[in-house]
Amino acid sequence: MAGTQQPEVNIGLVGHVDHGKTTLVQALSGSWTDQHSEEMKRGISIRLGYADATFRECPDRDEPERYTVEEECPDGTESEPLRTVSFVDAPGHETLMATMLSGASLMDGAVLVVSANEPVPQPQTEEHLMALDIIGIENIVIAQNKIDLVDSDQARRNYEQIQEFVEGTVAEDAPVVPVSAGQEVNMDLLIQAVEEEIPTPERDPDADARMHVARSFDINKPGTTASDLAGGVLGGSLVEGELESGQEIEIRPGREVEEGGQTEYVPIETTIRSLQAGGETVDSATPGGLLGVGTGLDPALTKGDALAGRMAGLPGSLPPTWQQFTMDVDLLERVVGTDGGEVEEISTGEPLMMTVGTATTVGAVTSAREGECEVNLKRPVTADPGAKIAINRRIGARWRLIGLGTLQE
Ligand code: GDP
Ligand code: MG
Repeated sequence: MAGTQQPEVNIGLVGHVDHGKTTLVQALSGSWTDQHSEEMKRGISIRLGYADATFRECPDRDEPERYTVEEECPDGTESEPLRTVSFVDAPGHETLMATMLSGASLMDGAVLVVSANEPVPQPQTEEHLMALDIIGIENIVIAQNKIDLVDSDQARRNYEQIQEFVEGTVAEDAPVVPVSAGQEVNMDLLIQAVEEEIPTPERDPDADARMHVARSFDINKPGTTASDLAGGVLGGSLVEGELESGQEIEIRPGREVEEGGQTEYVPIETTIRSLQAGGETVDSATPGGLLGVGTGLDPALTKGDALAGRMAGLPGSLPPTWQQFTMDVDLLERVVGTDGGEVEEISTGEPLMMTVGTATTVGAVTSAREGECEVNLKRPVTADPGAKIAINRRIGARWRLIGLGTLQE
């Protein structure tokens, strides 16, 4: 029995660069690659590195030793699968905050990785925790990593720094689990903490399907003849509802069309030809993990992420598309990062970069009042009223996270 259930929960891996996020995912998920869908997965995971892990238990053992990712228990019996989780490995480099946030909108919980051999917090440790805080991701486990590199005094001091740092934040009550991802030490404790702190969210099976498209591509090798061409592929995450192979779907805002110097968006309809979830071809998919949707679309339409940031669902069931919207605004007190000053009020006329679901769009503020503002978008977004919006302001050479918006009706 290979543990190939579809993942049912998305867990973000966040934290400073080099603190061991990718190593931890590797320790928990074993092999990265999957023979059947390697091409599709590789394409999707470059930007939002996803990897699935099946947590298992050896029923005859005590806690925490009963938790494992191995299929065989130490006594030779077979372990039993608990659930499959999907890790979203957020990039820590160069503070790709928008990518982090577009991934974060798909996170049901997070593991914050903090290196035990460096002072706390490092810049992205702070930035990522702030992002979790404002997005409202409350189910958090802190992995105090690289304990193999410190002695017990250093480990204790580092632990105290972590506690001090998270005080008053969303991670205040998060368990801190000392681990060595590199040496695979305390992985059982970490699995136990994740099982206890990050439950699978309850999903409404009757909800309309909502897929956030994070990537789109053409999987054909150059030179494939027209009759052998595979249709365009969408990669992303289903956050509500169910999708089935054979169904008609609609993609909004759709494709960009130039009309007499004007850019318009035309909704697209197509058929689901295949579904890939948890590295397997499936007939139907439910929320959790990464979804690959093979469609009947001309691959020229999906090539090079052309449809990234769109929403897909059944025809007629998708939420509105907004060219401008009004959002409630909660500003941070300080700009996140090393040189963060105070966040000033949003002013009319200023440009903002906003991430809504997997869509990132720039807009100009047409009216700013206290606690809310109206923006006119360069590129429209399809989103439900109430959707969370990460708001970034240009400060110096970078877009910096300044607050969280909520889309008004
Ligand atoms: P990321 O940037 O957070 O994804 O960090 P990586 O997983 O790429 O790890 C950065 C470096 O730290 C790599 O050289 C890893 O081999 C090393 N590393 C990760 N975890 C551990 C650990 O538990 N102990 C030690 N000694 N090194 C580790
Ligand atoms: Mg990494």
